[in-house]
Amino acid sequence: MKIICIGRNYADHAKELNNPLPKEPVFFCKPDSAILPKGNPFFIPDWSNEIHYEVELVLRICRLGKHIQPEFANRYYDGIGLGIDFTARDIQEEQKAKGLPWEKAKAFDGSAVIGDKFFTPGELSSPIKFSLERSGSILQNGSSGDMIFSFDQIIAFVSQFMTLKIGDLIFTGTPSGVGAIAREDVLIGKMENEEIFSLRVK
Ligand code: ZN
Repeated sequence: MKIICIGRNYADHAKELNNPLPKEPVFFCKPDSAILPKGNPFFIPDWSNEIHYEVELVLRICRLGKHIQPEFANRYYDGIGLGIDFTARDIQEEQKAKGLPWEKAKAFDGSAVIGDKFFTPGELSSPIKFSLERSGSILQNGSSGDMIFSFDQIIAFVSQFMTLKIGDLIFTGTPSGVGAIAREDVLIGKMENEEIFSLRVK
């Protein structure tokens, strides 16, 4: 399976990192080795001084597809969950400045946190509200209604280039409020006020 991540899909987040608004979805991949095993803490790697959380809605692909039309895209995912796209922001800024790929900053072990629970699309009201909390305070508050590119547009766009396969996951971008983590943080992700994951940082 593969993990596809969408960058700059919320205008307020693009602005906080001084990125222009994209005219088409920006995407990159994480390997399956990036998935943080269930129940494990996240260990801050020793090669970065600035690991940022990015809470994101995650789509689970349920059908093989290529060149999917936007009007049929909703048949290609059967689950909507929540995850964190951990990002070594210091490394990413270096790579961006040199015009180099982002894998070092985005694809490392443990960088993909995926909550246990996936909702079927019918179980959720629209827009979908989600959040990330630490020690009782809200770090990020998101609404799928603020996405620049919708789930269906993302699936249609990405499938022009890459065949989507059953079990693939798509991280759909993060809202504003990204920031650094520290050891002993406990990060709690919620969708519709229901706790989807609780993660300790070491
Ligand atoms: Zn992200």
